[in-house]
Amino acid sequence: MGIIQYWKSVFKKKKEIKPMPKEVDPTRVCRSLDKLVPELKIIAQKMILDLKHHNIPAKIFETSRTIERQSYLLGLGNTKTMFSRHLEGSAFDVVIYDEKDKWTWNYEKYAYIYQMIGVIGVYKHGLEWGGNWNTFKDYPHFQLPRKKG
Ligand SMILES: [Zn+2]
Repeated sequence: MGIIQYWKSVFKKKKEIKPMPKEVDPTRVCRSLDKLVPELKIIAQKMILDLKHHNIPAKIFETSRTIERQSYLLGLGNTKTMFSRHLEGSAFDVVIYDEKDKWTWNYEKYAYIYQMIGVIGVYKHGLEWGGNWNTFKDYPHFQLPRKKG
């Protein structure tokens, strides 16, 4: 069947079109700590407690990603790589929320809060922080360091 015939058949059968399976929906954000590797899951749980303890208005926004979502984010320019550690469950993003209780990606305005979270992630939990990267600053991003040797 050619592509034209295919689309004609799709339009004819409009009501039968199934919604996109949620596993491949690239707009879907996974926040489950269970999708992280066990070592990082434990650190993530500790970091959540740290954020509460220090009254830092932030939450884990995203943990693991599908290839579909990574490619979608690359298209939006929100990431610079298809080799993200999110794909293997070795990274999570911590995003702060503002006075109106909304997620915010305004790093300039909330730089001091992102710095605080960065300090906790790096010095308390030994994570790599995207805010320390030279090429592309990714302030919400934390990942396990690669094992040496
Ligand atoms: Zn990230």
